[in-house]
Amino acid sequence: MKIDMRSIYRFTPVEHSGPLPSGGDIYYECACGDIVSSVSYIAAACECGNVKGGQGSATVQDAARVKPVRGKLR
Ligand SMILES: [Zn+2]
Repeated sequence: MKIDMRSIYRFTPVEHSGPLPSGGDIYYECACGDIVSSVSYIAAACECGNVKGGQGSATVQDAARVKPVRGKLR
């Protein structure tokens, strides 16, 4: 079962230059439309496989396809 993160969090874009930021309230929005926590402790991946999370971090294959966003609980 897939959880729609947007039903739980309100996401706002994060200004950044250089490497993608990470942190407890930072999520990666992939071009495929999925959102993965930047510090995911559960195994997670976006639909296209560009972002994979787990063990407290997330791995991004193509950073150009990822937008960092800040998530706040609704
Ligand atoms: Zn993706």
